[in-house]
Amino acid sequence: MKRPLALVVEDESNILRFVRANLRASGFEVVSATNGIDALEQFEKVKPDVIVLDIMLPKIDGLEVCRRIREGSDVPIVMITAKNDIQDAVEGLNAGGDDYITKPFAVDELLARINAVMRRAKANISHVQSDKIKIGKMVVDMTQRAVSVDDQTIHLTPTEFKVLNYLVNNLDKVVPHEELMLAIWGEDYRDCTHYLRVSIGRLRQKIEKDSSNPEYIVTCSGVGYMIRSKV
Ligand code: CA
Repeated sequence: MKRPLALVVEDESNILRFVRANLRASGFEVVSATNGIDALEQFEKVKPDVIVLDIMLPKIDGLEVCRRIREGSDVPIVMITAKNDIQDAVEGLNAGGDDYITKPFAVDELLARINAVMRRAKANISHVQSDKIKIGKMVVDMTQRAVSVDDQTIHLTPTEFKVLNYLVNNLDKVVPHEELMLAIWGEDYRDCTHYLRVSIGRLRQKIEKDSSNPEYIVTCSGVGYMIRSKV
């Protein structure tokens, strides 16, 4: 089997060496970059299977690198944040990161995050009831994993699609935060609802006419989210 290819972007050479050596020991091929511009060039060149991306980088920071990659790619991305600060983490997720890890981190934790984002990116969508569902002007094609609104194709990350898909599969039902966390992110993330909040925010930016006044994804305050069959 082909070894998965990881792009590691980090300007601190000791951390870069540490991550590179451990990923190689765990069966990855590794290419690296030490600034944001180099990261984007490497990304285009090698098309990695996963990216480990430090936020604080010279030239272009990791958040901007992540946003640019997300313009055309679903590649799983684990951000590295310097501070144990939820705001930093939320910015990373907002920029399109799938997960984050805080410095200093243990290699086991990094590998667990990498494996989790890769698994989520690959996992098939379960509970598919029918091919296409139309809700108002939105069409969700469960098997093609495609979404359009007003005939415009919407580009969603795998996580965003899974959140949308889960809500669509539970039409007209309020899905509690905890259920979504368990279904999409898994047991270890049960209490990390900021992941969900960020994904819902990004989904709304993409599918709603006015994301501050959403028609499709309705907030049921303090409980969860719902998509109604009639918009
Ligand atoms: Ca750095």
